[in-house]
Amino acid sequence: MEKRKLGSTNIEVSRLCFGSLTMSPLQTNQSHKEGGDLLLYGFENGINFVDTAELYETYGHIGYALRHLDRSKIIIATKSYAYSKETAENSLKKALKEMNTDYVDLFLLHEQESEHTIRGHYEAIEYFLKMKEKGYIRGIGLSTHTIAAVKGALKYKEIEIIHPIVNINGLGIQDGTIEDMLSALSDAHKLGKGIYGMKPLGGGNLLKNFQQCFDFVLDLPMLDSIATGMQSKEEVDVNVAIFEGREINKPSLEKIGAKKRKLLISEWCQGCGICTEHCGQNALKMVNGKAVVDHSKCVLCGYCSKYCPHFCIKVI
Ligand code: SF4
Ligand code: SF4
Repeated sequence: MEKRKLGSTNIEVSRLCFGSLTMSPLQTNQSHKEGGDLLLYGFENGINFVDTAELYETYGHIGYALRHLDRSKIIIATKSYAYSKETAENSLKKALKEMNTDYVDLFLLHEQESEHTIRGHYEAIEYFLKMKEKGYIRGIGLSTHTIAAVKGALKYKEIEIIHPIVNINGLGIQDGTIEDMLSALSDAHKLGKGIYGMKPLGGGNLLKNFQQCFDFVLDLPMLDSIATGMQSKEEVDVNVAIFEGREINKPSLEKIGAKKRKLLISEWCQGCGICTEHCGQNALKMVNGKAVVDHSKCVLCGYCSKYCPHFCIKVI
C-alpha cells in the first residue's frame, strides 16, 4: 500500500485510511472486539491510519486493536467539538484514556464551517498547541463539509491538517461544487497542509459506482490519504485491492454486493424536513420532529442525501 507524508509534517500515512464511523454505535454498532479485530485485519493488510472522533464512540475499538500492535506503527486521527481550554483538555484526556495511548497523532476540530468558527475555537487550538509541545499530539487540524473552512484554514499556520469531504459528485459539500472544493484544497496543498479526504462514496450513496468514485479521489494529487468506512473483511479486501491497483477478488465483491443495504438517518437530524420534499418514492416523512424512512418504499437512490444540509442521510 502506498504511503505518503501528510503535507509538510513528518507523519507518513497509507493512502487508505480506515474510517471508524461505520463500526460505531451511530452506524453498524460493532462490539469493541469485532471492530478492533476488523481494524487489525486492515492494519495487517497495509493500512496504518485510522480516523475517529469523540462523537463516534470508537475509542474502545481502537484501544482494543492497539493492545495487539506496536503503537508507533499506527497513526490515529481524532476530532472533537472542543472550543475552549477546558473542553479541549477534557477531549484529549478522554481520547488518551479510552484508547489507552500516550499520545494522539492528529487532533482535529470537528466540523468547522468557516474562518469565523475557527476563530471561535481558537482557545482549543492554543491548548492543543501546548499539548503538541509536550508530545501528547503530533499535529493539529480540522474536519469540514465546507469550502469556507478550507479557505479559513489557509490563514492559520497552526492548522496543519485538513479533513474535507471530497467525492466525485460533491455530495455533502455545503457551500459549493466539487470543483470549488478542489480549487481551495489545491491552495492548501501548496501551503504544505496535509489533506485526507472523507466520504469518497458520498456516505454510501455512490456505492453503485464505487470503482469510478475511488478512481476519482485516487487521482487527486492533493489527497495524501482517503478515509473510507469498512464494516467487513470483504470490504477491507476490496478497498485494499483498489488502493493497490490490483484486481478485485470476485467472491469478496459478490459478498459485498449481496449484503443488504439500508438508508440510515443519523440521530443528529435537525428536523428541517427538506429531505422529504426530494424523495420521489414518498419514502420519507417527519415523525416527532425527525425524518423517518419507510424502508419498504426506499429504493436507495441516495438522492435525498444531497439535499440534507447536515449530511445526516447515508446508505450503509
Ligand atoms: S434514498 Fe431515494 S428513495 Fe430512499 S428515501 Fe432517499 S430519495 Fe427516497
Ligand atoms: S434534511 Fe437532514 S436534517 Fe433535515 S429532516 Fe432531513 S435528515 Fe433531518
